Amino acid sequence: MTTRKSAALGRYSIGMGDRFGLQGVAQARAVQQAEQEGVIVTPVWNKSNREHQLVGTLPADVRIEADAAVQTLGWTHPYFVDADHIGFKNVGGFIDACDFFTLDVADAIGHTVPAEMVNALVKHLSPYVGNLQLPGLDEPLPLDTATLQSSAHQYLAAVQEAARLYHHIAKGRGARPFLVEVSMDEVNQPQSPADLLVILAALAAEKVPVRTIAPRFTGAFHKGVDYIGDPAQFEREFDADAAVVAFAVRKFGLPPDLKLSVHSGSDKFAIYPAIRRVTRRRECGVHLKTAGTTWLEEAAGLAESGDEGLAIVKEIYAQSLARFDEFCAPYAAVIAIERTHLPAMETVANWEGWRFAKALRHNHTNCLEFNPHLRQLLHVGYKAAAEMGPRYRNAVTAAEAFVGPAVTRNLLERHIRPLFLGE
Ligand SMILES: [Zn+2]
Repeated sequence: MTTRKSAALGRYSIGMGDRFGLQGVAQARAVQQAEQEGVIVTPVWNKSNREHQLVGTLPADVRIEADAAVQTLGWTHPYFVDADHIGFKNVGGFIDACDFFTLDVADAIGHTVPAEMVNALVKHLSPYVGNLQLPGLDEPLPLDTATLQSSAHQYLAAVQEAARLYHHIAKGRGARPFLVEVSMDEVNQPQSPADLLVILAALAAEKVPVRTIAPRFTGAFHKGVDYIGDPAQFEREFDADAAVVAFAVRKFGLPPDLKLSVHSGSDKFAIYPAIRRVTRRRECGVHLKTAGTTWLEEAAGLAESGDEGLAIVKEIYAQSLARFDEFCAPYAAVIAIERTHLPAMETVANWEGWRFAKALRHNHTNCLEFNPHLRQLLHVGYKAAAEMGPRYRNAVTAAEAFVGPAVTRNLLERHIRPLFLGE
């Protein structure tokens, strides 16, 4: 497989979103601090088409922000700009600005493919039929022909879509290198390790040099709140998936640095120990994709910064309550908000800045004020901030002393350190 010469993503990498494009330096500070503490975590600035449309930004804006942030801090290691969750409909606008493409092919899952294609893939995998023993796994992977067939039926169309999209991007990029992520996470049905094996075999057959793959894991990955599910079950699945990735690299000739990607990865404190144990034990890597958590720190910092900042976040909350359905609709699959647990505007109107920030910040150790419903609602409420235009941006800039350190701390202390640093 021809892997274009590109800077490497490295063993550890973190996807960071920045809705309003004002926190690039504060975000880069988190990886710079991690480097000083002994681990290189490659920063990847990601923004989806949905976010660009809601905020009114372009992919080129993220490129400018990322380049400026690394230049300001003198970051000498690789960094990337990710066209996050793109498809044929919207990839065009990302081709020049991005050097990392997350191919979202979830919509093609389950689409019909010719029987000959399914048979060819199953035949290709026939040497592994039976109980496939993978290094480091107590239980062999049960791979019978029926399982392979049903996986192939389910995922081959999605792989084909990824291949078409990859070749389309490759043509557009010409000699300019880029990395490929394939994502199938935004679906209800998790992919098993056996499914992952089939998907990777098919991607290799289609010559897609995939560097990270984001499966749908078991459990719920809601935006900005903790993992919902059994962390022990997640760990077994993540470990088996990591074993499958290593196997696929060896057997199918995929890029040697291929790794798993965990999407909606912010604030999943319950499974960070599992991810950490598996990546340490297997000496493998992981890409953790976060997005809206920086915007929430921005809002919390604003609330703490003074009267104008607090007035703005209260207005955003009021808008989010009033336009609940509109704001939640694009994110329906990845949020779980109980409306009855949302504080009324009359209550919030009386809150001081510290009180608002406490309700909003995801403090999972004994914080009675923390309200995950309010947090999720504000997570999708950035549209109201976008509509404020310069008033919002000016307030954030004026509140930099509160916002910037909060953004850095959130990424470093709650995400990078527990996952990547220390023993
Ligand atoms: Zn995703």
